[in-house]
Amino acid sequence: MSDGMKITFLGTSSAPPQVDRRQSSVAIKYRGHNLIVDLGEAAQVQMLKHKISFKNLTILFTHLHSDHTLGLIGLLATRGFYNIKKPVTIIGPQWTKTFVFLQLLAFRFDPDFEIKVIETDGGVVLANSDFVVESFKVNHSEESLGYKIVTQKPLGVFNVDKAKELAIPRGKLWKELQEGNPIEIEGKTIYPSEVLDKSPTKQIKVVITGDTTLDHNVINNSAEADLLIHDATYPPSEVERSKKYKHSTCLDAAFVAKKANVKKLVLTHISELHKNLEDSLRAAQEIFPNSVMAEDGLEIELSSREN
Ligand SMILES: [Zn+2]
Ligand SMILES: [Zn+2]
Repeated sequence: MSDGMKITFLGTSSAPPQVDRRQSSVAIKYRGHNLIVDLGEAAQVQMLKHKISFKNLTILFTHLHSDHTLGLIGLLATRGFYNIKKPVTIIGPQWTKTFVFLQLLAFRFDPDFEIKVIETDGGVVLANSDFVVESFKVNHSEESLGYKIVTQKPLGVFNVDKAKELAIPRGKLWKELQEGNPIEIEGKTIYPSEVLDKSPTKQIKVVITGDTTLDHNVINNSAEADLLIHDATYPPSEVERSKKYKHSTCLDAAFVAKKANVKKLVLTHISELHKNLEDSLRAAQEIFPNSVMAEDGLEIELSSREN
């Protein structure tokens, strides 16, 4: 599926790692871009295992708690070891610049590649011809963000025959129309809709919450998402604890998915308080049927083709 998006769960545990769950990290591949949301302790090993590029990557931190960031310095050091010169972009909440600077200082690491750090407290943080990434505030014990990744919808497929029929000379004018701009030939305006056929591809929307308790801002930002990746630290019984530590139960996650009318929900940031994962999943599915329990190595592919 060359046009689609591939999401790989590199780490799905809540703060303490478990024998078969590493700390939080999710890799998102789309058209040659690699976005990594959070880098738990074992992230770089998991990236090697799942063939995620060290060269070409953008790192998004939901927040700076160690279970989401311990893997950063190791990953940067490995890039240095392999003499990778390509710049790396790190996006995160307030203090991310200080955090990265202090890590480099503490580990006496002076990389040969540029590290660009962008701090955000909401809004568009990255936009290119393939997708737009927006951050939004979530409700956790630390300044924390969720991320919304929406692919760009191509305007349409350029119809060469129609362009020839309208006697539009090949070259600059074709490009203008392909980019959605009207052109003029001998005083006559030609609009893009006259030469663009409906695109067979659709937008993909993925939302990843990071750590959060049940929050309306998450519901608003997740509206109609193809995939919602939501904190589900606790089983249904741990409501008190979820409020105290500002995490979610699997039922909170399912409630958000249902309210936001998403297509699919992945429950992640799983703690050992889930005594029986099947029971937790079943309880979530009673609220939102298309719920899945994350596990390390889980891969989800989202097609960009219209059905
Ligand atoms: Zn966490
Ligand atoms: Zn946290």
